[in-house]
Amino acid sequence: MARILIVGGGVIGSAIAYFLVANPDFQGEVLSFLRHGPKLAGAQLSDGESLSFDLAIDAGGPWAASIAQMAGIDLPVRARRRCVFVFSCKDEIPDCPLVIDPGGLWFRPEGPMFICGCPPAVDLDDLPLEVDYGLWDDTVWPQLANRVKSFEAIKLQNAWAGYYEFNIFDQNAILGRIRIAPIYISPTALVVMGFNRPQQWGVDLRNCWSTAATGRWTLSELGFDRIIANKPLVELNII
Ligand SMILES: Cc1cc2nc3c(=O)[nH]c(=O)nc-3n(C[C@H](O)[C@H](O)[C@H](O)COP(=O)(O)OP(=O)(O)OC[C@H]3O[C@@H](n4cnc5c(N)ncnc54)[C@H](O)[C@@H]3O)c2cc1C
Repeated sequence: MARILIVGGGVIGSAIAYFLVANPDFQGEVLSFLRHGPKLAGAQLSDGESLSFDLAIDAGGPWAASIAQMAGIDLPVRARRRCVFVFSCKDEIPDCPLVIDPGGLWFRPEGPMFICGCPPAVDLDDLPLEVDYGLWDDTVWPQLANRVKSFEAIKLQNAWAGYYEFNIFDQNAILGRIRIAPIYISPTALVVMGFNRPQQWGVDLRNCWSTAATGRWTLSELGFDRIIANKPLVELNII
């Protein structure tokens, strides 16, 4: 049986591991990859141990590019901060769905309150995970009030910031074998749809792995080859 190392994968890794019959419990930090000729063959860990593998999966989310870099691969994935704001509204809004405006403002009910967000006008890499309250004051709240009359009188209750793994090439997933390092597969860089689809990713990575010889698998259009060939498969409506 192939030895599979999933590097990272806080959310998605375990689903992928299930379908690849791999060990989802690896928690170590990979400092570098070890080579056997042109192939990656092992990982040097921060605790001093090393692990050998037949297949490494980069499931590093926003940090996927730094893991790929250790394998000599330039992955166009960046950590982009997104802030989520929690607010209350005196008026009831029955059956309020998830609403996404063309400009990127989104909101939806969350228990008795609402959560919302909006991409920043200037979207820089690796910003500290501090909430941008200016975004709330200048952009999010005015747009909410403009969209829903009852949202003219709301109260900000809480907020948090997290990273998207943002693909700066075409904003789509990068999923599949990377040919310049034959045993390296990256299932990362899907923004927003990430944890809605890990099972499908797991199934497809298994198919990719098992059909590697023939080369056909369902999600092959999402492979790294499109980046080498400079053929973007643009995902629209990323918020
Ligand atoms: C505000 C916000 C809202 C979102 N909303 C949605 C949504 O509604 N729907 C949706 O599907 N997705 C959403 N996402 C995206 C979703 O959170 C991510 O797609 C998902 O968390 C990615 O999971 P992952 O397992 O690939 O990576 P992560 O869960 O980020 O795990 C990556 C792991 O890699 C580890 N790591 C990094 N470097 C190394 C190394 N060298 N060695 C070992 N480990 C390493 C890190 O410690 C981390 O644990 C949202 C994200 C944000 C910020």
